[in-house]
Order: sequence, then C-alpha cells, then structure tokens
Amino acid sequence: MEDVTIRENIKAVEKTIAVTCREVGRDVQEVTLIAVSKTKPVEMLQEAYAYGCRDFGENKVQELIEKFEEMPKDIRWHMIGHLQRNKVKYIVDKVYLIHSVDSLRLAEEISKEAVKKDVCVKILVEVNVANEETKFGTTCDEVKQLVYDIAKLPNIRVKGLMTIAPFVENAEENRPIFSKLRKIAVDIMKENIDNIDMEILSMGMTGDYTVAISEGATCVRVGTGIFGLRQYMS
Ligand SMILES: *Cc1c(COP(=O)(O)O)cnc(C)c1O
Repeated sequence: MEDVTIRENIKAVEKTIAVTCREVGRDVQEVTLIAVSKTKPVEMLQEAYAYGCRDFGENKVQELIEKFEEMPKDIRWHMIGHLQRNKVKYIVDKVYLIHSVDSLRLAEEISKEAVKKDVCVKILVEVNVANEETKFGTTCDEVKQLVYDIAKLPNIRVKGLMTIAPFVENAEENRPIFSKLRKIAVDIMKENIDNIDMEILSMGMTGDYTVAISEGATCVRVGTGIFGLRQYMS
C-alpha cells in the first residue's frame, strides 16, 4: 500500500511542477525534484528509486552514509542539513552536492578533504534570507564576500545558493524570500568570479515549492509531499 502511495505522490508532485512551469513560462527540465528522504527507511527510498527518482536529500551524515551503502550507485546524494566540520571527511566523495555551506571555515574543511581524496566538491552557499535566529546560513550582506573567499579554495566549486524559507500557512508569504535569493544570485553572477557559477537555486519545500519555482528555483526539496509526515524519535 505504502509503495503505491509513494509513486502516486511523486507523480502528483511532478505534475504540479510541470503545471507551474507551464504557467510561468519555464522549461520543466530546468527544475530538479530532490526527494528528501531523511528519517525514512531504505525500503521507501527504493520505491522512489523504482519509480525513477535519482536525486535524494538527507540532512544527517551518518544516515546519508548508511543509505549510500545500501542504495544503487547512480543516485545523486544531496546533503541539505547543517554540516559539522569534523564530519566532512565522511561524505566529500559520496555527495553530488552540498547545499548547506554557510561559513568559510566549513568551506576550507571541504576543500582540504576534497584535495586529500582527489575529488572536486560542488556546493551551494546557504543564505538565511529571512534572518531567522533558529536557522543556519550566512546573511544577505555577507554572502558575496563568502563566495569570493570560497572561490580561492582548491577542489570546491560554488554552483549557486540555497535557502530554507520560514514555515508559513500561506506559501505566498515566502515569495519575497525566494525572489530575494534570486536577486542575490543574479548580483553575484554579474561579478564574474572565477570558479563560480550561479546555475543552481535550491529553494522550495513541500509547502511552498510552486511559489519557489515561479521565482526561479532550479532545485526543489520535497520530503513530506513524497514520503508522508516524519516521525522523530528521541
Ligand atoms: C526536511 C527538509 C526539507 C523537506 O521538507 P518538507 O516540508 O518535508 O518537504 C527540505 N529542505 C531541508 C533543508 C530540509 O531539512
């Protein structure tokens, strides 16, 4: 029963993405759906994989590594949660993209471990656009300088920006947040910094991804909308 639901859910989300793209005149190919599978068992990820999902998002290093070992190797793993420097070494050669880089110290650690393992790690800079105290991310004022600093490091590539918008009843309330992130990206692009591009805008979750797409999201991170509500035990 569960499996059918996951497939139906993904289908519905894909359809909504397609409809939204059509409405706002975007090519649906520009938007990647990331299935956020945190806290969910591997069996559920396998259902999503069987349907065709190849992009999965996790927010804990340990969990990502376990699932990486168990799941097929053609999956693109997205690290979307806060990353501690001492855990960077476990994932640099496993992740496709780290969405949550918010300090030079973290970027330096990623660069150092990437050099050791002879890989190049793609990252996004996380911006706390709404300035929420409870959230990680650099500020709108500091992001450009941070991008300049990261650009000088070896084996790490900034591919764009990420934000987590506040939880709101009406997704439209988050439109200014998404539009601000996009403006910052455009602004940074104009600087033509070596090793930097702004092709990825990771924004939008289950509650607000259609608004994010209409404001230019190229990655939407959908958990609940695919796998159902999460139960946290501890
Ligand atoms: C959990 C999580 C999501 C998915 O949230 P849903 O509301 O379940 O879609 C997206 N992005 C990040 C960074 C998350 O931690």
